[in-house]
Amino acid sequence: MSDPLLEVRALNAWYGESHVLHGVDLDIHEGETVTLLGRNGAGKTTTLRAIMGILRRREGAIRLRGRDLLALPLHKVAQAGVGYVPEERGIFASLSVEENLTLPPQVAEGGMSVEEIYSLFPNLHERRHSQGTKLSGGEQQMLAIARVLRTGARLILLDEPTEGLAPVIVQRIGDVLVALKKRGMTILLVEQNFRFARKVADRFYLMEDGRMVNSFPGHELDAHMDELQDVLGV
Ligand code: ATP
Repeated sequence: MSDPLLEVRALNAWYGESHVLHGVDLDIHEGETVTLLGRNGAGKTTTLRAIMGILRRREGAIRLRGRDLLALPLHKVAQAGVGYVPEERGIFASLSVEENLTLPPQVAEGGMSVEEIYSLFPNLHERRHSQGTKLSGGEQQMLAIARVLRTGARLILLDEPTEGLAPVIVQRIGDVLVALKKRGMTILLVEQNFRFARKVADRFYLMEDGRMVNSFPGHELDAHMDELQDVLGV
């Protein structure tokens, strides 16, 4: 197999003095969708924040196509092709959908055009003049994903995109992820809802107390159900 697109090795991370990640290893190949599972507080969000460089106190290695990300500031990580959609979505609530998609105007090379975004998310086109605050949770989530696609990111870190959304909207988000996969996008997904995640995940990683405790291919999910119920408490 080719070298991974993203390689995380022996990653430790701290919030201040609080040591949260303990030797995390993670590989993602180009075009793969990898899902992190784990209870609340297991360290999933922290893993995304550490990869993106939002959380700065880290040790170990994070490499994108062999390039060390640990030394780079956040904006350089973004320029290298990594996009982060936080759980709280991070859209500009006071701006319209279209303004969210066109600001900042300097879209990186390889970023999707607004037209492409609208063809991928027809509902954002319908809502293009609506203010961020007027959007439903699902529309806000799609807008947050769309903003990252505008930046030219090829690896998308997605934190619980289905959180708090109605089943029909969860389905719609699933369709979007499938469409992104078809375009060759690489996705690292944090998701509590593994029944949703199984539709898109090529591989699962299971986290507990800031450590990776297991990893298996998506099609083996059923064989790991007992362990999942144990670790996730579901
Ligand atoms: P959740 O689903 O609740 O977001 P998670 O698996 O993503 O869970 P993290 O948010 O990564 O977990 O949290 C991992 C640990 O880090 C937890 O013990 C949490 O209390 C702690 N933590 C998270 N954010 C901070 C912060 N800003 N400052 C200090 N500790 C934090």
